[in-house]
Amino acid sequence: MSFVTRFAPSPTGYLHRGHAFSAWTAHDAARAAGGRFLLRIEDIDAGRRRPEFDAAIEEDLAWLGLTWDGPVRRQSAHMADYAAVLDQLIARGLVYRCFKTRKELMAGIENAPHGRGDVVRSAPLPAAEERTLMEDGRPYAWRLSLDACRAALGPAWTDLDFQADGARVRAEPERLGDVVVARKEFPTSYHLASVHDDALQGVTHVIRGEDLREAAHLHVLLQALFGWPTPAYRHHPLILDAEGRRLAKRDAAETLRALRATGRTPADIRASLRLPVL
Ligand code: GLU
Repeated sequence: MSFVTRFAPSPTGYLHRGHAFSAWTAHDAARAAGGRFLLRIEDIDAGRRRPEFDAAIEEDLAWLGLTWDGPVRRQSAHMADYAAVLDQLIARGLVYRCFKTRKELMAGIENAPHGRGDVVRSAPLPAAEERTLMEDGRPYAWRLSLDACRAALGPAWTDLDFQADGARVRAEPERLGDVVVARKEFPTSYHLASVHDDALQGVTHVIRGEDLREAAHLHVLLQALFGWPTPAYRHHPLILDAEGRRLAKRDAAETLRALRATGRTPADIRASLRLPVL
């Protein structure tokens, strides 16, 4: 069986030890399986990406001693492809416009008495109201309508399942609510671009942090809507700092460049992550 996995960082900060763990975990799995390890740069967010972070990704991974197969895919070079995928969702009536501001959405979460705290409740607007907002030039995002998806898939909705960490799991896209599939500023979102690329690149195993465990439930739905294959999912634990918080962009001392500057070697970093010696 073929085995294709990937590491897909976003260039919104320098890579830190958590990224090293994720990249090595996917890389080592691919090498052990005699498969392929791809590098994909998820740089759709023009407002947050920085050229220096982008350039540092390959440099830092190469310093770790990682090698990847084939050319690096940069999502920003394929925006027209994602726009075409979004157009299909629009044509099929599976998405609706959401004009809410972040502030309005946050207020909605706080006020939702019985809803899950982290699920944004949103719904299509009446046509007349939507027209007025459009005429006013108000910006909007596109949200995937779970109701419309359920209707489109029919009985297949209840059969949605996937392999996660070795077990068969029933997909429950409701866990995430009507997610944004295209942002106000650009014609896609992380979810749409990432799932599209996994299919295009023939990824058979998605190996990533457990912070994206829930996202897989939505990704399986997107695959079913487009007839794309569903990879197997594996989630690894997140690397925490001394206070038990997950590493983030704020932890400058944990970046691979900072560690390198203090004389740490890739072998030291592997050991600190409790990864087997290569
Ligand atoms: N670009 C995402 C991130 O940096 C990773 C997405 C994924 O592995 O599916 O968090």
